Amino acid sequence: MSMGAPMSSLSKPAGVSELAVDSGLQDIAEKVYTGQRLTREDAIRLYQTNDLPTVGALAEYARRRSAGAGKERYVYYIHNMHLNPTNFCVETCRFCSYANPAERGRAYTWSVDQVLAEAGRGAALGINEIHMVGGLNPACDLAYYEDILRAVRAKYPQIHMKAFTAVEIEYLANLEGLTYEEVLKRLVDAGLGSMPGGGAEIFDEEVRSRMAVKKTPGPVYLEIHGIAHSLGLKSNATMLTGIGESIENKVDHMLMLRGQQDLSGGFQCFIPLKCYYEGTDIEAEVQEPTAADLLKDVAVSRLLLDNFPHIKAYWIQLGVELAQLALSFGADDMDGTIGEEKITHAAGAKTPLQLAKERMEELIANSGYQAVERDTIYNIKAVAQSEPRLIETPMSERLSAIL
Ligand code: SF4
Repeated sequence: MSMGAPMSSLSKPAGVSELAVDSGLQDIAEKVYTGQRLTREDAIRLYQTNDLPTVGALAEYARRRSAGAGKERYVYYIHNMHLNPTNFCVETCRFCSYANPAERGRAYTWSVDQVLAEAGRGAALGINEIHMVGGLNPACDLAYYEDILRAVRAKYPQIHMKAFTAVEIEYLANLEGLTYEEVLKRLVDAGLGSMPGGGAEIFDEEVRSRMAVKKTPGPVYLEIHGIAHSLGLKSNATMLTGIGESIENKVDHMLMLRGQQDLSGGFQCFIPLKCYYEGTDIEAEVQEPTAADLLKDVAVSRLLLDNFPHIKAYWIQLGVELAQLALSFGADDMDGTIGEEKITHAAGAKTPLQLAKERMEELIANSGYQAVERDTIYNIKAVAQSEPRLIETPMSERLSAIL
């Protein structure tokens, strides 16, 4: 399958062809320019090369083409908040601080009224999305989540509920003795608007076994998203790195997502995530991704996932500086203003807990892009007034400042 969009009048990035020759990537560059789908081997070579500027420039080219005419420099964000109604989880994934005893000692489960009060704080700030995920908690059954969705919809109908990872859907189905489709239909009836992408981790079974991941194998994750798409829900997809995975594991993970997207088409955005180790015992046995690795996850996903419209630079994990640089490596979404994020910060992330809209727009403009406020399903709400800044510093210098 081709990359879909006809070859436009986009000019090739200056100097990339020559760089690609130097780094042996010319054949891949030609495929990108002519809209051919990349192979597993192509993606592995993009990960293996030291020529980071060329990988970034190719991904930037692919991003601009995918964006469509007039939107080449658009970078999206959403005014949202995260809600985690419970941090208690019956699973024990080794990379997750929700599973550690200290976090369990602080376990909480909110009542429907508490969730509603939190939603009210967001509503007062004008948010238009709640991203709600939580642990697998037997005290939180399907009726509890239906009550939450109904209560939020009744009181704040303007807020889109993006909620429940595929892992939570699988858990609720098992808890209630229902099919995935029955669970999803009941949640949609109660007010579910779309699904986030969390819980994919890395699909490779050997890595999952080392990390004690017993939930939702890759094919089940894909099946649940496929069912959601068939019901008209949009969803996102993720990949977690820094848990002992290889380059091949990452590429195969993306290829499974690409295959599902060919079938069901409802993924909006791919989000590469990195593991934070605080409260876990895995740090000594895994390799922490470098900044270059994280930029390659963004760039390779943009190039390999030719059927995903958006790639996210999740600033809460990457940190603001690296997220800004990731915009020149194929990302076109900075996620949201967030409100209060708990999961990554429970595991030691030192990024700010929230970014105001104005600050978000300034960061995007300072990276050379046009900030655009979107809703959950990528309808444009407003194009920011702030003009994209002209970036004159060569990419090699920008990279050496951060790598
Ligand atoms: S990663 Fe998800 S399923 Fe695993 S322990 Fe953490 S919250 Fe539970």
